[in-house]
Parts: sequence; C-alpha cells; structure tokens
Amino acid sequence: MIDPRSAEASAEAGAPLMLATTNPGKLREFRRLFPDLRLLSPADLQLQLTVAETGTTFHQNAAIKARAFARASGLISMADDSGLEVDGLGGDPGVRSARYGGDGLDDAGRCLLLLQNLSSAAPDQRKARFRCCIVAAAPDGRVCRGDGTCEGVIGPRPEGESGFGYDPVFVLPRFGKTMAQLAPEVKNQISHRAGAAEHIRPFLPSVFPELAGSA
Ligand code: IMP
Repeated sequence: MIDPRSAEASAEAGAPLMLATTNPGKLREFRRLFPDLRLLSPADLQLQLTVAETGTTFHQNAAIKARAFARASGLISMADDSGLEVDGLGGDPGVRSARYGGDGLDDAGRCLLLLQNLSSAAPDQRKARFRCCIVAAAPDGRVCRGDGTCEGVIGPRPEGESGFGYDPVFVLPRFGKTMAQLAPEVKNQISHRAGAAEHIRPFLPSVFPELAGSA
C-alpha cells in the first residue's frame, strides 16, 4: 500500500490518479487526454503488479485492472481495456487483442498475422473498429466508466510509424490514412480512447471530488 502523501498528494493540487497500465503507448495517450489531472504511472511509484485479464468484455477487464491497482496503490486508479474487432474474423481479436497469436508475437507480428488471416476476405469483411472502456476506481469502492468506439477498415499492408498496436493496419477512410500515419494530436481527437475519455471526463469531478483539489 502506498501512502498518497508519499506521492506528494496535496489538497491544493488535487489527489494523484494512478494509470493502471505499463503500455508506453497508452501512457502517452492518457497523459495527452487528461492534461488537467495529476497522473502517475506504476513505475513512478515502483509498483509492480500483474493483473490477469480474466473478463470476457472490455468493461470487465478495465474494472478488474482499475480495482486491482486502486487496492495495491491506495490511490484512485484508472484503467482502460481496449482492442480491435474485425467483422471478417467474427469480432476477433477483441478482448484478446494484446495476446492475438500467442506470447511470441510483438505488435508488428500481430499486425502481419491479422493481414494473413484476412488475405482472402471480401472488402466488406475488412470493416473493423477499435473499442475502449475506461474505468476509474477508488480504494473505497467508488467507480465510474466511459466507452468509446472508432470505426475503420483493415488496410492491405502496415503503414505509418506513429501510435502502437494495430495502428499501422487500421485505415480511417475519412482521412485515407492509417491510424499510425496520423499525428498523435489527431489520433487523440478521434480515437476510441479519446471517445471513452470524453465520456468519463464529466463524471470524474462528481465521483472523485478530491481529484480537483481543495476547490
Ligand atoms: P489491453 O487493453 O492492454 O488489454 O490491450 C489492448 C490491445 O489492443 C493493445 O495491446 C493493442 O494491441 C490493441 N489496441 C488497443 N488500443 C489500440 C490503439 O489505440 N491502437 C492500436 N492498437 C490498440
């Protein structure tokens, strides 16, 4: 258990909020999406916690992670669970997006496997969406949630260097670019994570007034 005072919590500045992820891509995006909150990463508090994502929905997994980090850190904690659903794969990789193809694959390998599994798919079957559910949980049991979706199409080959995960193969028809070809500021306006952040943002001050400080 970590004393919030050791994380320099002060009523004036508002309580810190722990981001329950070690994924550097997600940490970067969360910091841009919630610039007004005092966000800490597990590394900031030398907190090492592995949480089994045993849920069958994005919401269940986000809640499992947020609650586990809140219990372990003593801080309000925010987790997301997100992933890619592809029509031609019956909604896969879905909640298993991070583990698609097994442990031996990295992000690039998972993108290539996805392309291979869609090699004979009709254009309609390449329709896909990113989904994200964000849950914030306090050690005393208070919770709130936000959801977001971003529609696109799986492209023919990986393109672009930005972002993470499946971004290089996820084409946004209205931009004619993959998510990995968009500037981070643009992704952060239109992504599933941005949608979920927008959804949860208005609930945070009423459920967790201490995040706003003494005001
Ligand atoms: P989790 O939410 O940590 O279980 O992992 C979600 C997985 O879905 C990531 O590891 C990525 O493979 C994929 N994913 C989630 N959000 C994004 C995104 O914004 N871009 C690309 N891939 C994503």
